[in-house]
Formats: sequence, structure tokens, C-alpha cells
Amino acid sequence: MANKTYPKRFATQAEQPLPHTQDTDCTLDDHGLCVYCGAHHGEPCVHCGGKGFHTPGCLTRHELWTAIQNGERVAWFVIATHRNPEGKHIGLLAHENHPGFYITDLLLDADLGIAQLQCDEHNAHLGVTTGESMVVVLSTFSK
Ligand SMILES: [Zn+2]
Ligand SMILES: [Zn+2]
Repeated sequence: MANKTYPKRFATQAEQPLPHTQDTDCTLDDHGLCVYCGAHHGEPCVHCGGKGFHTPGCLTRHELWTAIQNGERVAWFVIATHRNPEGKHIGLLAHENHPGFYITDLLLDADLGIAQLQCDEHNAHLGVTTGESMVVVLSTFSK
């Protein structure tokens, strides 16, 4: 996965803005190393498919990943008050029957309705239907 090595022999920062944050930022050499940022691109991530970088919201880096693999249910959701400075909704993660929620690096649309649809898509990837996601989120409200 990504490392911080910067191969000066290849390029300057002026030629290619750094840091790279996603696979599509990178230009690979024959060894799977980005010629600009030096990130190694190997086997795709089992969750997000990223080879050098995980996509935002990739759950393999999240502390809930073990629980997810153990079959515990989690669900993405958004609430109108949780946005970044540009107004985009921040992806929140509920863990069934655990009070509270996790704030993630997943940014969703600024429109709440669209952001909720995007959550539905992410939940579908987790095998959680829209109806089930509501059950999961409601289970996290403090009793
Ligand atoms: Zn790169
Ligand atoms: Zn990943």
C-alpha cells in the first residue's frame, strides 16, 4: 500500500501535484510503483478494489472491519448536520446495537436525498437493504 517515499529521480512535485490519494492519480512503472509518488500498487483490496490506495470509505481500514467480517451488521447513513466545510455530507457508520456512530472519510453529495441514495448503494455492497439499514441505525440510538 501507499508509502511516503518520493522518488526524486523521476519527477518534481511541480510536474505532478502530490500527494496522490487515489489509484487514478498514479502513473505506474513496470514494477507497479508510481513514478511520481512511489506508492506500490499490488493486489486489489478485497473491499474497494484499490491497488495502491483505498477508496474513501473503504472499510478494511476501519476498526469495524473485523466485526463486519464476523457478520455483524453495519450501515451507512447521513444526517443533515454532518457536512464538511464544502457542504458535502459525511458518511456515518452505524454498528448494530452499539450506541453512537462513526464518522468516516467518505464524502457524499451535498444534497441530502442524493446522499441517502449513495448510502443505499454503499449499504447494498455490504449486503444491507435500505430497510435493514434503518433497523441498524435505529438500534444505535441510546436507550
Ligand atoms: Zn502516485
Ligand atoms: Zn480498500
